[in-house]
Amino acid sequence: MTVPFRHPDAAGLDRKLAGLDVADRLRAIRDAVPGRLVLTTSFGAEDQLLTYLVAESGLDIELATLDTGRLFPETHDVWAETERRYGVRVHAFHPDADALQELVASQGINGFRESQAARHACCGLRKVEPLGRALEGAAGWITGLRAGQSATRNDAAIAQIDPARNVLKFNPLLDWSRDAVADFLADHDVPRNALHARGFVSIGCAPCTRAIGPGEPERAGRWWWEQESHKECGLHLGPDGRLIRATVTP
Ligand code: SF4
Repeated sequence: MTVPFRHPDAAGLDRKLAGLDVADRLRAIRDAVPGRLVLTTSFGAEDQLLTYLVAESGLDIELATLDTGRLFPETHDVWAETERRYGVRVHAFHPDADALQELVASQGINGFRESQAARHACCGLRKVEPLGRALEGAAGWITGLRAGQSATRNDAAIAQIDPARNVLKFNPLLDWSRDAVADFLADHDVPRNALHARGFVSIGCAPCTRAIGPGEPERAGRWWWEQESHKECGLHLGPDGRLIRATVTP
């Protein structure tokens, strides 16, 4: 059985990383964590920035994605272009086939719209369980989470423990703005999901993502039929182990 790596001083590491630029943060994370490091990507702007830096630096950081089975074709396109451009393979984690067959048989192909419980069951099966497999045996998990994406993400840290998954979690773009990320991608000619140019900011599964209008919060286009206070997908947990909700302030 793999014994998960435990870092005794996530807070100290967080303070150290805060003073570095993002490329140096990734190097320092690699130096500090003696085990597998996994960057999970949904091919959004932030994840593309981090993937570029990992590919350019040659750091030993694995790339993984959750292919839910409901992604946009544009997401698959930027996935393929990213692999081609950087000569990398992004390891895909799919939902368990038998469990998915049972879910669709019981709730229908778009049953996630019927209730919050049905939606959570779908996210649990298509995202959360595969994420667990992606992080199995990993010592550290790197994400593209930014504090500006939601009010509750302000509580996140650049380095923190994910209490449920027992890994060190790193958010090296936590203090970046959406505009700074966009500028970086343009300056470095990084492949972008074509949907960004059509008003899609936070891009997830096709039936659960819409474009947002001027002035709308970044994640307003996710699960828009649910109350803001109930939006969550189960991937990100706060320091207290509770779900980071996608409630967003303008
Ligand atoms: Fe299912 Fe929508 Fe969650 Fe994707 S975002 S896993 S389609 S409920």
